[in-house]
Amino acid sequence: MAQVPLAARREKITVSSIFVVVDDKHIPVYRIMWVADTPHFCGNDDCVCEGDYEVRLEQDESVWASRQERDNVLKAVEAWYNGERDADDADADWDE
Ligand SMILES: [Zn+2]
Repeated sequence: MAQVPLAARREKITVSSIFVVVDDKHIPVYRIMWVADTPHFCGNDDCVCEGDYEVRLEQDESVWASRQERDNVLKAVEAWYNGERDADDADADWDE
């Protein structure tokens, strides 16, 4: 298996982790305010979100994630945060 240079690998992770797919939508992770820890339940017969996890976005928007999608959201936000932090470190190195 070919070795991938670290710089290239980081670039790939950074690019691919800006968006996460929830409910067939590509959501930019920096727009996510919070993610529900428990599935939605309101008891309404016509509720279409029952059992889904609410992902709150900026500007009072929400998308509804399955359990798997919710886990992907948490991973994507964490990867994005770590990528930003690594990018900051790289910039600091360049300034020295
Ligand atoms: Zn509901």
